[in-house]
Amino acid sequence: MNTKSSYEPVIGLEVHAQLQTRSKAFCGCSTEFGGEPNTNVCPVCLGMPGTLPVLNINLVEFIARMGLASGCSIAPKSVFARKNYFYPDLPKGYQISQYEEPICGPGGVEIDLDEDRRKTIGITRIHMEEDAGKSIHDIDVDTLVDLNRCGVPLIEIVSEPDIRSPHEAYLYLSRIRQILTYLGICDGNMEEGSLRCDANVSVRPMGSTTLGTKTEVKNMNSFRNVERALEFEINRQIALIEDGGTVIQQTLLWDANQNVAVAMRSKEEAHDYRYFPDPDLVPVLVDEESIARIRKALPELPAPRRDRFVKELGLPRYDADVLTAEKEIADYFEASLNALPADARKRKENAKAVSNWVMTDVLRVVAEKKTPIAEFPVPPPHLAAMLGLIHDGTISGKIAKDVFEEMLATREHPKVVVERKGLVQISDVAAIEKIVESVIASNTPQVEKYVGGNEKVFAFFVGETMRMTKGKANPGIVNDVLRKKLSARKR
Ligand code: ADP
Ligand code: ZN
Ligand code: MG
Repeated sequence: MNTKSSYEPVIGLEVHAQLQTRSKAFCGCSTEFGGEPNTNVCPVCLGMPGTLPVLNINLVEFIARMGLASGCSIAPKSVFARKNYFYPDLPKGYQISQYEEPICGPGGVEIDLDEDRRKTIGITRIHMEEDAGKSIHDIDVDTLVDLNRCGVPLIEIVSEPDIRSPHEAYLYLSRIRQILTYLGICDGNMEEGSLRCDANVSVRPMGSTTLGTKTEVKNMNSFRNVERALEFEINRQIALIEDGGTVIQQTLLWDANQNVAVAMRSKEEAHDYRYFPDPDLVPVLVDEESIARIRKALPELPAPRRDRFVKELGLPRYDADVLTAEKEIADYFEASLNALPADARKRKENAKAVSNWVMTDVLRVVAEKKTPIAEFPVPPPHLAAMLGLIHDGTISGKIAKDVFEEMLATREHPKVVVERKGLVQISDVAAIEKIVESVIASNTPQVEKYVGGNEKVFAFFVGETMRMTKGKANPGIVNDVLRKKLSARKR
């Protein structure tokens, strides 16, 4: 009997990323999201007769960054093409895109299947295009059209059919998003539509090397939905074939409420779009020098940075993954580490200490308050100074948590907080001895238990001493003094 495991899914993704330029691709209109409908428009992006598009040169620089970051070649000459189709949200009747001569040629992006296994997903091409407008159908009477998005610059990243499971698709998408945001060219927001993905999928008998007929699933607004939609469509295709049917090439729309993909139309072929070079735009020329300059200015990418955190800073792989998930977090972590004194920043236990604070306390607050890390109330030098205060014994690790809370609230330097709130740790042995004496004197029953061999009450004495000092006693000294005084009772 045939089962699901006798088929192999084959997946290729087309990712559209909105570039974070301030103005549109071929006119001066703003790209701002969420404006009043039809306010960010002009004769050019409305496609009025007689107007001429002029390329926003930032686009070329942005797409070249992505191309170089994903190992693509950059074409010295590329050409814009018109992709013709009729739709109410497309007043020109065509989208400016690239077809036969895209700017970025073949490349590849590496994903991590697990801690040890990596896999490269081939990139077929990356090209520039403009977005269309938006039709709003969910109004009682009419369909409304908002043309604000007409002419907003996009790049389309087309993968090879190298992806073999919905989970791999998820990993690939996450990596693409991570690279785009590291490069600062896209905000990666799938809910707002700055990142969109069309998933092409087919199945074939395990061991076969020819491709099956594919379908294309659209309209997923989260990574999770891409995974779900692919699961659904793979199962549908297998069931269909098992039933003696054949898959037909078509486009499906994912319905996230019903968890089903519904056939939208039979897929148009490239010739239906009647692509031809756009006579209004000159070819895009990129010289060697520009490529070299852009390559040099690329930031350290997420995977190499993660590997460096493991190799050079001695961080566990888990920490390194969390810290490098977003560039701003990785930057914050490194700035904090580098704000430690020179000798301290080289010690691996300090890298781990900084990592612990960032992963737990900093990221918790960032998630709760949704503040961008750049505006985080505790800047890296303050976090480093606080670790210094723990290190030199001024405050205990426990008090540090209170200091941190106060730093969050007031944006003050930790030294200011410690002084103002009188949080300096008591490390004076004689002073601690006096307090311990009084704790022992006023808790005779517990002392007797301890003397009788109940080791557990030791924690009670530690707790009492800390309570008497409002948590300020140096815990190490408290332990030593208590051990000494209590064992003296035993004899
Ligand atoms: P189309 O002409 O339908 O747009 P393309 O050849 O341009 O098809 O490929 C679009 C995407 O579909 C690419 O990401 C590609 O890797 C993927 N793809 C192509 N053929 C298949 C297939 N048989 N199964 C799964 N994915 C495929
Ligand atoms: Zn415009
Ligand atoms: Mg295509």
